[in-house]
Formats: sequence, structure tokens, C-alpha cells
Amino acid sequence: MGHVIPVADRASRIEYAIRDVVIPAMELEQQGHQILKLNIGDPLAYPGLPTPEHMIDAFSSALRGQNNGYSASYGLPELRNAIANDECGKNGGGWNCTADDVYVCHGVTEALQIIFQACLNEGDEVLAPGPHYPPYMAYPQMYGAKTVEYRLNPDDGWKVDFEDIESKMSDRVRLLVLINPNNPTGNVAGVEEIGKLLGIARKWPNCIVIADEIYDAIDFTGRQVSVASQSSDVPVFTLNGVSKVWYAPGWRLGYLAIHDPTGSMSNIRDGVERILRSRLCASTPAQIGYLAGLTGSREWMIDTNSRLLKQRDRCLERIREIEGLDVQAPGGAFYMFVRLTDSLWAEDDKRFVLELLHEEHVLLVHGSGFSQEMGQGHVRLVYLPEVDVLDTAFDRIDAFLSRKRLGP
Ligand code: PLP
Repeated sequence: MGHVIPVADRASRIEYAIRDVVIPAMELEQQGHQILKLNIGDPLAYPGLPTPEHMIDAFSSALRGQNNGYSASYGLPELRNAIANDECGKNGGGWNCTADDVYVCHGVTEALQIIFQACLNEGDEVLAPGPHYPPYMAYPQMYGAKTVEYRLNPDDGWKVDFEDIESKMSDRVRLLVLINPNNPTGNVAGVEEIGKLLGIARKWPNCIVIADEIYDAIDFTGRQVSVASQSSDVPVFTLNGVSKVWYAPGWRLGYLAIHDPTGSMSNIRDGVERILRSRLCASTPAQIGYLAGLTGSREWMIDTNSRLLKQRDRCLERIREIEGLDVQAPGGAFYMFVRLTDSLWAEDDKRFVLELLHEEHVLLVHGSGFSQEMGQGHVRLVYLPEVDVLDTAFDRIDAFLSRKRLGP
């Protein structure tokens, strides 16, 4: 091989477990195998969970009506207004969000990058739940910062361990993250837990809470409330978008909303706005599609949520019956974080995932991809597929576990 041009360190360090395991799965598909994919949190990857028609109609009429120009950098004013109204009316009482507090992005993923760019300097820390959605670990390091994980309790529904947060707070922690409902555990934090989290953040004047509420309307507990609605003094970035609750992840559309009750975020807001202007804008027709969702009826969500609940319950039933698996019931989102109880897999969940894929053609994601320290010995399962697909997957997982328990 001739000369190889070096890659930047920041790129060579990036890992994204959810998509990394797709590469061997694609190889198997190319060889003609059919893979049962329980790995990706994309409703459109499963039959019967489409983007609502009225949103598609609005998006496509925008395309046909030549609404294809750049929008304002912070988003279309009508959409910012509709998002603000939505935040004001969230379950359990919203917060006094105005259109000026809302900034439309290419999904929550871009919102996160913008927040990290605006808030983090060399040596700063992000305190995020362990286990967590991987970009919370991958991105801060690009800005010379690092992510420290706080513990979610694996024996108590993956609830937040507040003592652990308290012990890890310092002046270096600029962002304290709550993902609610959580990916990958499905835990839902209610009013009391959010109050405790805010109580800790309040003691650190340079710390902002990130409330990732992208699964907020997929809540089977009725306990989910927005963090901003509970805060009269702590600054909060609220994150949300079309990918999960609105069944349109390929639109790449979301937002960050700034809740700044004491005015401490004025410099941060200026930084966020500068970055937003420098990257032009989010997709204009997609914003019109989202607007149709926010201003239209939400009756359809009742059906999709009851389908998800049925699928969740079926998974819980199957897991209870299968030797080698254990799980804390998730309260929301569409994931469960399943413990592999056979000692064989306790330190090697990635091998479990790869062998299961090759031998049984079922694709899960290894728990260590969501936290090296706190996810080890687990797998994440997506319960978006219909019950018969889930049943087939569990039959195969059961057969695999029994076979491996017998040894080579
Ligand atoms: N936040 C969490 C907690 C997620 O689980 C995901 C996707 O799985 C995202 C953000 C990505 O959001 P978006 O598609 O808006 O970039």
C-alpha cells in the first residue's frame, strides 16, 4: 500500500454502537440471509408505523409549491411559534416558552452538537446518564471536553442515582443531562426526581441542564413532565423533534429550546445563535411537515402507543420465561435494556450480539456500546416490530442461550 494520509484524532475515536453492528448484518444480508432487526430506534424500519399522512401531505405540498428555499436560521416563525405553544401545553403543565426561545435544527443530534460547541471549553465535563444514547459520549470530546457518567440503578428500574450525581458535580460540569424517557433503558423520571436533579444543579451556577425529551409522548407511566416546567431558576436546554413521537426520523428535524428563568444564559444564547446562523438553516419543507403535525389532531398517537404497549408487554412476558435474560420494565420510549444473566456473557456482550447475529440472524445492540462501565453484560432490544416478529426473535434467542450454556 502507498502513503496513507492520517485521519484527525477526533474522528478516529468516534464509535456509534447502534450502527457499527449493522455492518456485519449487511454482509449477511448480501449473502441472502434475512435478519430480524431489533437494533434500531427507527419506527419506519418496521411495518405499520408510518409517518402520519397529514404531515406527509404538508411536506409534499411545500415541495410542489416551491417552498424549497433557505428558511430563517432559527427556523420558520410559524413553526417556532407552534413549538413554543406545544412546550407551554405539555403534559403535567408546560413552561412559558416563546417562539424566540425555540431554535430549529437538523434533529436533536445537531442541536446537541450546537450546544456542545457553545458551552464546552477544554477540560469541561458533561455529566450524562450511564447507560446513555452514544452521542452524549462521542461528541463532547471533539471540543476537548469529556463525558462523565452518573449511575442509573440497574436493580431499581434504572432510576437516577442522585448520590452519584452529587458526588460527581464540580465547577467543571457545564452540562447535566437527563434523557426522559431514557434511551436505552426506558426509565421515566417524574416530578419528584426532576425536582431532585434541579436541586443539585441549582448549587452550580455555571451548569445548564440538558433535558432530552424526544420520547416524551411515548410514556406508559403518565409521570413524564418537561424539566423546564419544573424549573423556576435552573437554566435548561429542552430537546425534542420529529424522529420518535412523530414517526419521521428521516426528515432530520428537531429543536432546542432555551429556558432561562434568571437571565444567566444570555452569552450562551448569543453563542448558539451565532453557530446557527453560520450553518444556514434546517430543511424548509420538512419544517412545514412538522408544523402540520403540531397543529393537527394527535388522536392517531393513541393507536400507536397502544400497539407499542402491547409489544412491550409481550417482550416482558417472554423475557420472564427465558432462562438467561432479565429486565427492568421500561416505562416509556420503545427500548428495553436486557441483562444477560449467564456468566458467559457478563463481560462480553458484544460477542453475544455478534454470535447471535451470525448463528440466529437476530440483531440487537451490545449494552457496552451505551456505556463501557454501566452497560456491560446487557443488550438493547427495540420493541417496535410486531408481536409475531418479536416472538420469533425470542424463540431464536432462547435456542441460542440454551445451546451456548451446554458449551462447545
Ligand atoms: N436523543 C435520543 C435520546 C435518542 O435516542 C435519539 C435517537 O435515537 C436522538 C436524540 C436522535 O434524535 P434526532 O433524530 O432528532 O437527531
